[in-house]
Amino acid sequence: MKVIVCIKQVPDTKGGVAFNPDGTLNRAAMLAIMNPDDKAGLEAALRLKDQYGAEVTVLTMGLPKATDMLREAYAMGADKMILVTDRVLGGADTWATSSTIAAAIRNLEYDLIITGRQAIDGDTAQVGPQIAEHLGLPVVSYTQNLKIEDGYAIVERQFDDRYHVLKVQLPCLCTALAELNEPRYMTVGRIFDSFDAEVITWGRKDLTTLEDKNMGLAGSPTKIAKASDKVKKGKGVKINLDTEESVAYLMEQLTGKHII
Ligand SMILES: Cc1cc2nc3c(=O)[nH]c(=O)nc-3n(C[C@H](O)[C@H](O)[C@H](O)COP(=O)(O)OP(=O)(O)OC[C@H]3O[C@@H](n4cnc5c(N)ncnc54)[C@H](O)[C@@H]3O)c2cc1C
Repeated sequence: MKVIVCIKQVPDTKGGVAFNPDGTLNRAAMLAIMNPDDKAGLEAALRLKDQYGAEVTVLTMGLPKATDMLREAYAMGADKMILVTDRVLGGADTWATSSTIAAAIRNLEYDLIITGRQAIDGDTAQVGPQIAEHLGLPVVSYTQNLKIEDGYAIVERQFDDRYHVLKVQLPCLCTALAELNEPRYMTVGRIFDSFDAEVITWGRKDLTTLEDKNMGLAGSPTKIAKASDKVKKGKGVKINLDTEESVAYLMEQLTGKHII
């Protein structure tokens, strides 16, 4: 069985978020980590390796510094590392990101693709399902438990206060929740090995199925019109009514504005 796990390097937002004066994220001031949902997805893949001898490939699209994260994944137990990087791929929105990753995956053999549900920086939760759509694969989002039986993935999919159990024929794509499991630590031996292991690096020319119109900034239909970290507060209103009248007034205002 061959499993591909898409992992993204993201700024660690636990200690707060740093902004540049122009309102963009100050990535240099924040630690870079493996996206938490992706780490759980990787752990799920490594458990399939422990159980069935699955081959686990980790793939990322990003800057060359993302190799640190790939080596971390290798030190946890991944077998192959792929970095997709090229200046012409920069400025990609989710459409261009998923088109590029799907083109990279078309170069590989796979039975199962795992992505995180959501990246903690971009936060859209679009890339996983979009990759599946590009590749014509069934997708199960919000995976909270995963087993493989006779060519099928048996997936518990989180749903409000309950879960669905879905049986999906392989190959398929699952998007993992951080709650899926407790990711293992790197081992000392594999940390050393990770520095000798090859990071396969692909650029634009290696992505033969990727069309120019679907990549980079020019191939990104989403345009950021404005970014702001400040929530504007409206002017306050002072009212002088008794309790009952105040409640009636508040109800009228809230329903009038369709808040309740
Ligand atoms: C116009 C525009 C320009 C942008 N320019 C930039 C830019 O210059 N630099 C920049 O960093 N961001 C840029 N972004 C943000 C970029 O769109 C997102 O980071 C990216 O598309 C992924 O979306 P997301 O973070 O919401 O991922 P989600 O959809 O929340 O991610 C879900 C899962 O998909 C997988 N995944 C997502 N991205 C990757 C990846 N790169 N590699 C491997 N797996 C992945 C992971 O498993 C992840 O858990 C730009 C966005 C727009 C709209």
